[in-house]
Amino acid sequence: MDNNQKFKTKKRFGQHLLISEGVIQKIVDEIEIIDNDVIVEIGVGTGQLTEEILKRNPKLVYGIELDKTAYPIIEERFKNYKNFHLIKEDYFNVNLYDLAKGEPIKLVGNLPYNVSSLILVDTAFKIDIIQLMVFMIQKEVALKLIAKPKSKEYTFLSVFIQTFFEIKYIMSVPARFFSPPPKVTSAVVKLIPKKDIPVKDIKEYKNFVSKLFSQRRKMLRTKIDENILLEAGIKPTARTEELSVSEFIKLFNIYKNSHS
Ligand code: SAH
Repeated sequence: MDNNQKFKTKKRFGQHLLISEGVIQKIVDEIEIIDNDVIVEIGVGTGQLTEEILKRNPKLVYGIELDKTAYPIIEERFKNYKNFHLIKEDYFNVNLYDLAKGEPIKLVGNLPYNVSSLILVDTAFKIDIIQLMVFMIQKEVALKLIAKPKSKEYTFLSVFIQTFFEIKYIMSVPARFFSPPPKVTSAVVKLIPKKDIPVKDIKEYKNFVSKLFSQRRKMLRTKIDENILLEAGIKPTARTEELSVSEFIKLFNIYKNSHS
């Protein structure tokens, strides 16, 4: 806890440090670390989670951290670990392919909540090198990740992420387990890439799903050619929020064929 006391947390970086040993253990258990693992941690902070990961002896740990004031603390804390590398960058400027060097990686992090959805969306584009992900995020976002059609939590994020990953809701985590406590309840989720990636052009798929979710209560025929809907076996009067993930995928692939 010494490290936490030296460090002044900053709101703009979404810093809420984990202070519960039990929660840290649980997150790291879910990574199922084995000797050969290359692990990338997003948002090291003062390194509570990192230390528990390193104790379990993976081959390599890359810790990405944006806040310069945390670097001296991290460097001092892990100076004896040859398998730890601090990446002094914004996550969004890191090329995960360079870190992976052809090997699959496991991604983990108590994510900065202001960008957690953006990070999740970004990972789908790198699914070919991802083996598994374990993240702490806002419970509200976690519920979207596991939401079913016709519920109010069923959004763009639900469909987009469920297209690529199997999602397990591991547990809810009350605010008191962080310092400073966030305003919301948090949750740990685990995401495992699906074996077959069902869409080829991920960027176009993202735009497609997001377009269908704009004005989600409108009938689909106002957004997509009726013939395409019929070919996909979807009623033109159906609404976006009624479509299952497999229907989104089917519809996208038919739509794409008709436009190429
Ligand atoms: N893992 C630590 C800290 C989690 S708080 C713990 O559990 O105690 C989130 C961390 O992400 C903070 O250290 C914050 O500085 C960092 N962060 C915020 N935005 C980031 C970004 N875009 N790229 C990398 N790190 C970021």
